[in-house]
Amino acid sequence: PHCPTYATHHNETESPRGRIALMQALLRDNLPLNEQLTQHLDSCLNCRACEAACPSGVKYGELIDGVRARQWAQEEQPNRGKIKLLEITASRKKLRYSAKLIRLTQLSGTYKLFSKGIEHLTKAPPDINTLLPEPLPARKNWADQYPAINEERGHVALFTGCIADICDQQTLRDAITLLTHTGFRVTIPAQQACCGALHHHAGDTAHSQPLAEANIDAFADESIEQIIHCATGCGAHLMEYNQQLNTPQADKFSLKVNEISGFLLKNGINNLKFKTLKTSVSVHLPCTQRNVLKQATIPFELLKLIPELKIEPLAGNHLCCGAAGSYMLEQPKMAQQLRQAKLDSLQRSQHSILVSSNIGCAMYLAAGLRQQGQAIEVIHPISLLTRQLIH
Ligand code: SF4
Ligand code: SF4
Repeated sequence: PHCPTYATHHNETESPRGRIALMQALLRDNLPLNEQLTQHLDSCLNCRACEAACPSGVKYGELIDGVRARQWAQEEQPNRGKIKLLEITASRKKLRYSAKLIRLTQLSGTYKLFSKGIEHLTKAPPDINTLLPEPLPARKNWADQYPAINEERGHVALFTGCIADICDQQTLRDAITLLTHTGFRVTIPAQQACCGALHHHAGDTAHSQPLAEANIDAFADESIEQIIHCATGCGAHLMEYNQQLNTPQADKFSLKVNEISGFLLKNGINNLKFKTLKTSVSVHLPCTQRNVLKQATIPFELLKLIPELKIEPLAGNHLCCGAAGSYMLEQPKMAQQLRQAKLDSLQRSQHSILVSSNIGCAMYLAAGLRQQGQAIEVIHPISLLTRQLIH
């Protein structure tokens, strides 16, 4: 089966068909939004494997997002931890401040105590603290622009994301290196915000809509030819701002959104030279890359540019890794079960590098590896490529 929850439970109410029937009954007021119904809907990963496989083209993602917005509005006992997480990611200021505080406590050896206190105060799910690298890297500010190296062939803007900009600036720096080396001037609009995917998929329209509008404004400069992202989770949502907002500005924005690896492959990366790397990598395909961006072959094509690198798909790539936005925090049992299957496949492969094009999946898989004491590096394919670049 395509559906990870159906594959696990073999229960119709945990399948796409079952959930569609439940959602339709709910929307027609034939069923109340009771605990049992909520449970079946909440256990859906919104991985959209069912949508990609659906012969009738049912837009499952839109359907579940709509129902979740209704659930969010009707929630009598909202999850405080989740609300806090959505509030912090929606604000760059709060996110950067929190990251600074976390880094400080990590370096001073008081992080465990600090995170226990935060967990208690916000009722945040305990797993959130295992996700962060220790210590968090020190965040550096971006320049407004990075000029093309040699002759300029175009002007693009980079979407930095919220979590990536505090946990994984390296991938963003590598994107700038490859873009400028292929002849692109790169702008980093300072006013950009989190994409709002977490908020949108949770049904929190009060945050998701202003975030989408802020990004549309931040990237409105007519001279920007493409908006490049390095996380397929963010990109899948940026690409669908047009569906969310239904305005000419959103249409224009969504049309410009482009994933870094696919963009580089179409725009001259083949002219760069890369050093040989005699090792094997496993490629994890995030659901958003496979089911929404429909780019299942892209990371493989990109990595082929590294001479002698052996590239293999991670077994079980047709199923979600369990990260799925904030799912890993809200449904930890199911999420960990899905992740364990990936970690077991990785162990069997005996590869020392795992590449993933989505920050959420990469952080969740890396946390699992750390917990198991496995020294396998998890990086973005463009970082591996940049490491091998001959300048
Ligand atoms: S989105 Fe994923 S988990 Fe949800 S019903 Fe579809 S296949 Fe199953
Ligand atoms: S997809 Fe996730 S990481 Fe990317 S900007 Fe949106 S909320 Fe942040």
